[in-house]
Amino acid sequence: MVKMNLTEEQIERYSRQIVLKEVGGIGQKKLLKSLVSLIGLGALGSPAAYYLVAAGIGQLKIIDYDIVEISNLHRQILHSTNDINIRKTESAIKKLNILNPDCNIEIISELLTPGNSKKIIANSTFVIEGSDNFPTKMLVNDTCVNLKIPFTIAEVLRFHGQIMTVIPEEKTTCYRCVFGDNSDTHTGFSSSEAGVIGLIPGILGCLEANEAIKYILNIGDLIKNKILYVDLLNISFNFIDVYRNESCIACGGKTEDLVENYHYGIEDICK
Ligand SMILES: [Zn+2]
Repeated sequence: MVKMNLTEEQIERYSRQIVLKEVGGIGQKKLLKSLVSLIGLGALGSPAAYYLVAAGIGQLKIIDYDIVEISNLHRQILHSTNDINIRKTESAIKKLNILNPDCNIEIISELLTPGNSKKIIANSTFVIEGSDNFPTKMLVNDTCVNLKIPFTIAEVLRFHGQIMTVIPEEKTTCYRCVFGDNSDTHTGFSSSEAGVIGLIPGILGCLEANEAIKYILNIGDLIKNKILYVDLLNISFNFIDVYRNESCIACGGKTEDLVENYHYGIEDICK
């Protein structure tokens, strides 16, 4: 067993993953040294945060401006009935600090905007996009592509969900390559209109955390240049190949100051 600088308590806490040849003591130290930024503490962010903190991610930055509502609770498992009307960041940090004191958690109770996204996301080892809206997903894509920070994006509706991971340094297909500017041809519905079964973001949020952990450990395959489409009603997991758009204004490098100049419609999501 490689002890490295892990404490006896850490060796015991993480023993079931340290014993994995893909992790080991060296991998555990990589996890403890990494900074993951998590955009959104709702249905996707809840399981992602729990599993990242449990796994011993050293620093987690959690970003959400919203407050807990009773209609969140069937799927946003970080939050409880007692947390209604408090900020999701405050609710989350209470649970996560109890789970694992090894994880240093920074909370940012702000809306992610083109004005603050680069500052908030900079220096992240990996970013998890877990918001519930198209403008934020596109903003996270463009910011991470610009900063060359790897990230994963998931979204869910009804009984289905999808996830893709982007590694800017490898010039893999980005979210904008696939979904472009046209949000009308995208989901077009919110969970409040179309409904969502609580389990589907649970599964997709776990897959997002899994992408972060695999990237940090440099193991296995990532969901890059493809989308994984999950249908829980009919129980199917299918990959769809996706390709770079050479004239993409994000990853094609056509517009260096894209984030500053693009109209994302972020202000509309607060209404
Ligand atoms: Zn692109």
